[in-house]
Amino acid sequence: MMRCPNCNSKDIGKIGSHQFYCWGCFIELTVNGEKMSVYQVEEDGTLSSLDDLFFEDEAAHNHVHEQLNG
Ligand SMILES: [Zn+2]
Repeated sequence: MMRCPNCNSKDIGKIGSHQFYCWGCFIELTVNGEKMSVYQVEEDGTLSSLDDLFFEDEAAHNHVHEQLNG
């Protein structure tokens, strides 16, 4: 069971093949392979990325490194 990286809630709803929605804090989660992206849904319906808040650049760098090795 996946948890929300923001509020740690398990109340995650699936809204697409790789998209999930947290009912705890109302953010959208997109899972692409091992990479997870987090978006906040604005009042006008647009999505703004919250990745900078949850995933440090170093993690992204390691992911690229794994792809090169794999
Ligand atoms: Zn949440």
